Amino acid sequence: MELNRRHFLYGSVAAMAAASSLGTASLKSASASAPRVAPGARVLVIGAGFAGIGAARALALDGYTPLIVDARDRIGGRAWSHTDLGTSVDLGAAWLHGGDDNPLKPHAQQLQIPWHPADYGNGRRIDLRGDVIGVAELADSMGAPALQARLADGLFWAWLRWRLGRLVNASGSGRSLAEHWEVAFAGAPDADACALRGAMESYFAAPLDEIALESLFVGEGDELLPSTERLMTGGMQRLAEGLATNLDVRLDTIVERLEWSPGRVTAITTDGEIEAEAAVITASVGLLQQSRPQLSPALPDTHRSALNRLAMGLLNKIVLRYPHRTWDDGEEYLALCGSRLASVVINYGSHGGAPILVGMLGGQRARDVEGMSNDKAVGLLHAELRRILGANLPEPDAAIVTRWGQDPWSLGSYSFLPVGARGNEAQTLAEPVADTLFLAGEAIDTGGYGAAHNAWRSGLRAARQISGGGPLLPS
Ligand SMILES: Cc1cc2nc3c(=O)[nH]c(=O)nc-3n(C[C@H](O)[C@H](O)[C@H](O)COP(=O)(O)OP(=O)(O)OC[C@H]3O[C@@H](n4cnc5c(N)ncnc54)[C@H](O)[C@@H]3O)c2cc1C
Repeated sequence: MELNRRHFLYGSVAAMAAASSLGTASLKSASASAPRVAPGARVLVIGAGFAGIGAARALALDGYTPLIVDARDRIGGRAWSHTDLGTSVDLGAAWLHGGDDNPLKPHAQQLQIPWHPADYGNGRRIDLRGDVIGVAELADSMGAPALQARLADGLFWAWLRWRLGRLVNASGSGRSLAEHWEVAFAGAPDADACALRGAMESYFAAPLDEIALESLFVGEGDELLPSTERLMTGGMQRLAEGLATNLDVRLDTIVERLEWSPGRVTAITTDGEIEAEAAVITASVGLLQQSRPQLSPALPDTHRSALNRLAMGLLNKIVLRYPHRTWDDGEEYLALCGSRLASVVINYGSHGGAPILVGMLGGQRARDVEGMSNDKAVGLLHAELRRILGANLPEPDAAIVTRWGQDPWSLGSYSFLPVGARGNEAQTLAEPVADTLFLAGEAIDTGGYGAAHNAWRSGLRAARQISGGGPLLPS
């Protein structure tokens, strides 16, 4: 997801900056209950991403002895900041979504990690045929002045849900977003529907015909749009590293198998065996679906079938650094219609960074780039940018192309609800297994899915289940 994906979508379509508050569902205090794992016990935490770090911090505060292990040689997981281009560029998570309610925001503040408040009004939607499309045209074209008012009030998602909500039922509608796209956007010119579709596919990281209609109704449902999004110019990875300070973390350690019985786990790792009394497992949905790490005994059927109803989405980035800027420095983004690759291009120069443009590719475009050479991917995006920004755009002098689908420790970017999902998968997966295995990660937050703050909250939830209470927002 990129930008609270909904927020960005809204921004790229509506291009307005009306101020309104939004609800990233905030954690509510749970009343304390008996611990499921004896206080003071050693808890193995698999994964040094936001979920694992959140769990380990909360457990340490509650007097447990957490040990984090991660297969990678760095902390952060899907928060991965590249610093060689003259500006920190996040190849994975880049934005703190959801405005002031994002539970990671106070930590970023405390750790003094710089951010830039994104202004979604400050961008253009561009048809590669050369037309610039504005929000007024969108609303007019739909013959719905009332829609324009809703967009202005930040109620785009509420409107979309209202249009499509009656099609959803509790057992899973079996319908995709694509099936109802025309219903929702009847009358909109092709170019509008196309730019919106691209933004939507970046948001959900999947083609619309694979996304369950139910996706519109899961989590953070009361949000009003738009809201303040924060681009972490200081680097998301730095935030993760700061949060992991003083935690016991072993990197370069792959958990290959986890043997367990109630109250006991033995991890067979590439660096020997680790014994603990419980485990928090934060491997991605893609890895868990492939039984990585291998669990012995396996997860119960309830959990396995919930896992199998989820899917891993793909969002990739193409980072282009130019020798100098030739484009408008003020504009924060371009939303493209008709691009072979990027649906949205972020201008890092607009917040004082180096002359860097980052193309974001969702859905089928993200899949296409996985099999392309760097030269081809960079050449294609650069050629499109020249059409938009002018023939004086010089050749990029450095570039990075991500391929999250081939990352062995995520197997994709973040989860989405494919057709057939019911929308209750996270609730099922969050159920502890024999008070010994606790699943967490971006897909397993009952208040939403896909983002860094979902991962963080899921880790805090797992810790709370283990301890029976304790602080929800450890400082
Ligand atoms: C391109 C992209 C853009 C994104 N943009 C945003 C954004 O702007 N804002 C936002 O909020 N979110 C964004 N996200 C999503 C966000 O990055 C994730 O939701 C979040 O980082 C996931 O955290 P996690 O702890 O659940 O998993 P991870 O970060 O994947 O951590 C899990 C860790 O477990 C480790 N692991 C897995 N299996 C094993 C094993 N067997 N043994 C040892 N270690 C193991 C992995 O190495 C990994 O480091 C984006 C993601 C991508 C890829």
